[in-house]
Amino acid sequence: MTKSKSTHASHGLDKVHEILERFGVPGDADWMAVVLFVRNLVGEMDLFTEKQKAAIQARIFEQMATKPLNRQRFDSVISSIEGFLLNSSKVADLRDQLKAEREGSSALYSEMNRVVQEIQASSQSRQTSLQRMGKDTEELISNEGNKTEVVRRFRGMITEMVAQAREEARSWEERAKQMERTANFDPLLSELYSRRALDAQLEAAIDRARQNNSALSLMFLDVDHFKTVNDTFGHVTGDGVLRVLSAIVSAHASQFKGYAARFGGEELVVICEGLDEETAVVRAEAIRLDVANCPFQPQIEGPAQVEPVCVTVSIGVAQLKPRQSASDLILAADQAMYSAKINGRNLVMGHSKLTPGRSA
Ligand code: GH3
Ligand code: MG
Ligand code: MG
Repeated sequence: MTKSKSTHASHGLDKVHEILERFGVPGDADWMAVVLFVRNLVGEMDLFTEKQKAAIQARIFEQMATKPLNRQRFDSVISSIEGFLLNSSKVADLRDQLKAEREGSSALYSEMNRVVQEIQASSQSRQTSLQRMGKDTEELISNEGNKTEVVRRFRGMITEMVAQAREEARSWEERAKQMERTANFDPLLSELYSRRALDAQLEAAIDRARQNNSALSLMFLDVDHFKTVNDTFGHVTGDGVLRVLSAIVSAHASQFKGYAARFGGEELVVICEGLDEETAVVRAEAIRLDVANCPFQPQIEGPAQVEPVCVTVSIGVAQLKPRQSASDLILAADQAMYSAKINGRNLVMGHSKLTPGRSA
């Protein structure tokens, strides 16, 4: 095994030397690196599709075939390779994810900052009020001499301070709710709970189901061929499609007190407390139908009338079994979803209907 591997590797290098010789740069380490990279694209990297790999190879070799192979050409070949890497869709996905995470945490951070500043400002103003009250009381006692009037005025001041404190408390409560929303809801799909909130909610729902001996099911939704939507209409339209989808899913979920969250990317989850698998499958089927019949209108520039995008979802449903953990339940629903994909997509599949052995 090791022997065949090293033979294969040296055979590979021979081939690289042959190519370098053909291009008139035998033994040149820089060009060797380029050739090795371009050759490895075919076997090793899943960053590109086979078609893309072939196109990249052809493009680089075409650049190398133009003489002279000097420093300038080397730099331009390297920047083409960088261009291919940066434009690959996987890199675009990573950029999307990073952007969403950054937006989420910076919104939370600035909200926290505002609250801290207001608490500081308010404690300063309360101190000023207290000082003013102390001073006014002193003046009142020394000037008035009338005990009843002192008590009346003093009460008035206290009532004013209590009202002020109550008003502040109300606005802080609002702020606290706002902060909770920022932390618990998805930054892009604001109708849906975030992944962090989902994890906590699922643990709690499982505890409740076990305590009350009630059913609990989970839906796992994945948009069909969503990459094609992005590739055809662009990521901005893709985001718009996801927003409409999340509104549909959350409207359905609220009908059965479901908890709809974004699992990640174009994958959504709905926690269905009190529903067994059979009932959750019926609910999921209603979601699938609504999505399939919704005309998602892409907003792209230009005068041409564009046909609405048809988007469908595949949904897997699983019911909580004794001793299953939250991640076991997610996995089971994910397996059912995968089965819906391989059975043609735009389908709902219950985990109990999977062929044993194909689902772990
Ligand atoms: P399948 O039917 O097998 O699920 O095909 P698919 O194309 O949906 O699956 P794949 O996992 O290959 O691609 C998912 C795509 O979803 C890739 C990624 O660009 C896109 N995506 C994930 N999150 C977002 C997002 O927030 N916005 C946009 N516009 N696209 C996203
Ligand atoms: Mg997916
Ligand atoms: Mg998908």
